[in-house]
Amino acid sequence: MTFTPHGKHLIAGEWIAGETTFRSEPAHGPAYDFSVGTPDLVNLACEAAEEAFWSYGYTPREDRAVFLETIAGEIEARAEAITTIGSQESGLPEARLQGERGRTTDQLRLFASHIRAGDYLDRRHDPALPDRQPLPRPDLRMMQRPIGPIAVFGASNFPLAFSTAGGDTAAALAAGCPVVVKGHGAHPGTAEIVAEAIHAAIAKCAMPKGVFSLVQGGDRSVGQALVQHPLIKAVGFTGSLAGGRALFDLCAQRPEPIPFFGELGSVNPMFMLPEAVAARGKDLGRSWAASLSMGAGQFCTNPGIAVVIGGTDADAFVEAARAALSEQGPQVMLTDGIAEAYSAGAKAIGAQSGVQDLLTSMCDRREARPFLFKVAAPDWLGNHALSEEVFGPLGLVVVAKDAAEMGRVARSFDGQLTATLHMEAGDTDLARRLLPVLERKAGRVLANGFPTGVEVCDSMVHGGPYPASTNFGATSVGTLSIRRFLRPVCYQNLPDGVLPDDLVQL
Ligand code: NAP
Repeated sequence: MTFTPHGKHLIAGEWIAGETTFRSEPAHGPAYDFSVGTPDLVNLACEAAEEAFWSYGYTPREDRAVFLETIAGEIEARAEAITTIGSQESGLPEARLQGERGRTTDQLRLFASHIRAGDYLDRRHDPALPDRQPLPRPDLRMMQRPIGPIAVFGASNFPLAFSTAGGDTAAALAAGCPVVVKGHGAHPGTAEIVAEAIHAAIAKCAMPKGVFSLVQGGDRSVGQALVQHPLIKAVGFTGSLAGGRALFDLCAQRPEPIPFFGELGSVNPMFMLPEAVAARGKDLGRSWAASLSMGAGQFCTNPGIAVVIGGTDADAFVEAARAALSEQGPQVMLTDGIAEAYSAGAKAIGAQSGVQDLLTSMCDRREARPFLFKVAAPDWLGNHALSEEVFGPLGLVVVAKDAAEMGRVARSFDGQLTATLHMEAGDTDLARRLLPVLERKAGRVLANGFPTGVEVCDSMVHGGPYPASTNFGATSVGTLSIRRFLRPVCYQNLPDGVLPDDLVQL
């Protein structure tokens, strides 16, 4: 199946062309023109979403589950075309796009089974106590209800799994919330074909047309109008700290502030404990290099910082990482802007006081090669710039003089998506001392693994204290992510004939 994008927005079931266009900038393959989004189009989409909510928000869970499964099927029906355009636009290899497509459809099906099971409703019942003294207790029931239209910002680094029909959209639709997606300019054709799949599923399942809209970007006013629109009730976002913070602030400044679930920057520190470094330092160095450079380092869970206790074992770990990274060829980055930010970020790290270059690289226009730097813990502790994310395959080794200094480094990190312990049995005491610090800093703590590769399941937390995310109580991956788009409602003394069906059988 070949796919040539027509470049239109999908708004409430209609493909609408805008007055002006922007041209896509694929890593390879043909470029196409896409309609630039406008605040007027955002308004049309939000009004249609609100209208759709009055029916979609009250659909039986089974109907929504079938809808999610139908979207998954429609994506699979377009599999080859999605892979082709996704790879052309993002520069990611076709195999990666195929894997990401599987993750996207699995995610939709996981949410279907999750809402069928119904536990997410968190239903509670305190029966009436009419004879209680001094006052009777009324009948009280509670459950989670969908909150209304949700804005979703497609992510540049996951054109499928965190974009048009990605985790945010799947969670919102599962909850009963219509979605307005602001397409990412890095992959507008991928967004269009996935929107086509959702459009087909809406028709097959006879869902209200406004339940999903895609407004392409091309102008910053689109995202700003979307988060400020009075009918939008929450936002799902994955992207930069600067962009996410700007949109978060707009949400907070609204007459009715709304939650902004932004997943922003993280350096995902790894703590290389001494026994592990002594036992398998070289292996750890090679494995870190592989994880750090996978997908040109363009993962939010990329482990950018390794903290070691100095010595010959640590030197062997660092040398193995350096040697493995130096063998890496150039990799195409997602956009020219991301490649420029990577080069500039690497240059800035290399210029900081006390930083030693272990591996510096030349980066062509949209291509990245790995960088590796080393710094002593006191220099790192005194310079916040060294703890900030550089998006790409850049590693920084922080060398502590002893376990106490490693602990001070751990305490100094900002909020993180993940923190990792590499340890042997003999490191258990130190790991136990670090754990209270790491669990306060990160949404996920790992032992003896690498944080790239985020399992989509019930126990996953992909979030963490700011700036990993703008809401430390939430996750953007896994079934718990549905809670972002729900709020609890208590029903007091409502007769069965009026109560929502899901509460009647309690
Ligand atoms: P981005 O610049 O934050 O953009 C993400 C989305 O937000 C885009 O749709 C963008 O629209 C919109 N946006 C950003 N700032 C805005 C503003 N002030 N007003 C309105 N809309 C705004 O992120 P990106 O393009 O994906 O990548 C750039 C950088 O983000 C990377 O270099 C990396 O540092 C970081 N990043 C981090 C993660 C992560 O997982 N933590 C993932 C991807 C990227 P436009 O396209 O119209 O600008």
